[in-house]
Amino acid sequence: MKILMIGAHQDDNEFRCGGLAHKYVKMGYEVRFLSLCNGCGGHHIMTPAETTARRAKESAAVAKLLGIRYDVWEDMNDCSLMPTLENRRRLIRYIRQFSPDLIISHRTNDYHADHRAAGMLLQDASYMLIVPHECPDVPAMEKTPIILYNEDSFTEPDFHGDIVLDMDDENDFKLQMAHINVSQVYEWLPFTKGYADEVPEGDAERFEWLKGPYKITPESTDEEILNASRGGSGYDLRNAQTASRFRKELIKRYGEERGSKIRYAEAFQLCPYGGALTEELNKKLFSL
Ligand SMILES: [Zn+2]
Repeated sequence: MKILMIGAHQDDNEFRCGGLAHKYVKMGYEVRFLSLCNGCGGHHIMTPAETTARRAKESAAVAKLLGIRYDVWEDMNDCSLMPTLENRRRLIRYIRQFSPDLIISHRTNDYHADHRAAGMLLQDASYMLIVPHECPDVPAMEKTPIILYNEDSFTEPDFHGDIVLDMDDENDFKLQMAHINVSQVYEWLPFTKGYADEVPEGDAERFEWLKGPYKITPESTDEEILNASRGGSGYDLRNAQTASRFRKELIKRYGEERGSKIRYAEAFQLCPYGGALTEELNKKLFSL
């Protein structure tokens, strides 16, 4: 199976579906990350060119850790992605060349204009993937891939947890992936949230800070987890909040015994413009 995860930015895939990516790699599936933007806007001190170069290095390190190919549209500046015909055709060609079975990206309701544009570009590309006279220089696909949206917290309209997966075994790996995105998790994002002064100096100290102030114990309830503060980082809590938010869905998928104990999860919504999720595909992709 071939899996394409499309983030507007470098780190979107890592945070939102990085656990699933790692599971698929371990299953022998071919996973690829694509970032539609080059990361140039994500820093308050470095110049856009310096930030782009640094983000590229961080993404290369993520690719190495995961054992995947990680593509970046290096000419696409942050905050400038638009659902134009030119970008749609670029994406159609890109997807056809890889020919994935499953694509995961943003909803069109997410907070960042680049995320919304990424979701719109994928939606607009989805049907055209099988239309031979559209972008005839790259052979059309025979069938439309399954398309999923990554979780977000926006409510107009609500995100549906159609597929919520146990990530207990992947949480440490996800934290490692976040840790590699140094310019984001220790510099830019703390700056945007007003926590830049809190970030410790040492590598081990930083990694501990990254997990966040709330420590999850076996006694932590879903209510506590959902109401706890992430502080300036809170990546551990973030992954736990997905499991608590979709407890009902986890119990439905895994049964009461396992589903009620899962601490970390990733959640996805089925995109209606993707291919049909047959029983066979469901088994291959989501019986984890
Ligand atoms: Zn992003």
